Amino acid sequence: MKRKGYKYRIYPNNIQKELIHKTFGSTRKIHNLLLNEKEAIYELFKDYPDLLKSHTYLTPAYYKTIYPYLKEVDSQALTSAWLNMKNAFSNFYKGTHKYPRYKSKKNMRHSYTTHTTNNNVRWEGNGIQLPKLGIVKLRKHRELPDNSIIKAATISKNASNKYYVSLRIEYEEEIFNIDKDFQKVIGLDFSLNGFYVNTMGKKANYPMYYINSLERLAKAQKKLSHKVKGSNNYYKQKLRVARIHEKILNQRDDFLHQESRRLVNNYDIISVETLDLTEMMKNKYFSKKIADISYSKFVNYLSYKCEDAGKILHKVDKYYASSKICSNCRTKKKTLPLSQRVYTCECGNVMDRDHNAAINIATQGMISYLTKTIEDGIASIA
Ligand SMILES: [Zn+2]
Repeated sequence: MKRKGYKYRIYPNNIQKELIHKTFGSTRKIHNLLLNEKEAIYELFKDYPDLLKSHTYLTPAYYKTIYPYLKEVDSQALTSAWLNMKNAFSNFYKGTHKYPRYKSKKNMRHSYTTHTTNNNVRWEGNGIQLPKLGIVKLRKHRELPDNSIIKAATISKNASNKYYVSLRIEYEEEIFNIDKDFQKVIGLDFSLNGFYVNTMGKKANYPMYYINSLERLAKAQKKLSHKVKGSNNYYKQKLRVARIHEKILNQRDDFLHQESRRLVNNYDIISVETLDLTEMMKNKYFSKKIADISYSKFVNYLSYKCEDAGKILHKVDKYYASSKICSNCRTKKKTLPLSQRVYTCECGNVMDRDHNAAINIATQGMISYLTKTIEDGIASIA
């Protein structure tokens, strides 16, 4: 069984919106009540670890008797909020997470999660059936894999007042038989100037509309900085900034989806370099651009699309010197400063540095594929 998440924009009507907001409020209430209780109990028993461990906390069922309005919303959502808080504490005790915080109504983003029981989350016409809400209109830009089971749904609202549902699904994995005489391979060298350079020396530039949006964002942010903090105009402008920001994220996501889709449709083996992002983030000049360019997201999209289509994504070892090796004669240079944009070799090879690297990356992908094919062949004979 495989697990995956799928996110869709939904368009609740006013009645549904009201109930969604009520559920945000109710799950927040459960979250804060339990946090409150945990804190009180901790203070009381902190010197008696056994008592602390054995204490049983109040459940949503009990809270409902004190706050009857909690009965109006999806009870699964309340249970999830309660369980999440319990997990948050055990993670805190394990030392893997920070101390849980209170949730504020003022947050720009809200969400709640409901677990599926008796098929109560399912497709209905051009919408989705959700507990308590009924059928909510939805933009289905992507189908779920065949035979998938919806395990949970998270309903959320973002900073610019748009609503989404994220479905967590499980499905049986299809087995693909990659057995072809000829494999189409491509190598990608990620570059700050032009997203990536491929084996043909071609750049994948961001579309102009995306660049324009970035400029609009910069202007809107500048305008925001001139407004009086807390004033009406300040909040209006803040919402404007949030909307542009969201648009940019969507445009970038669209671009990454289209680009990865195109590659997976056209190639059998896609070879990419493994970027050490944490190392690069330490470098001030790189960090802002890298954060925006979001290679890891792109590699992630490539990875699941390849998997779905039965194609291969090869990640080249991060210590492989893709830039220093000559793609023509395999000689390796001892050093190659970043400022040197053209690769020149004694064998006569002169080419763009990133283009040279992309060819090496593609070769690595092909070598890995052939090695595996031979190993599998030997294994099947033995
Ligand atoms: Zn050479």
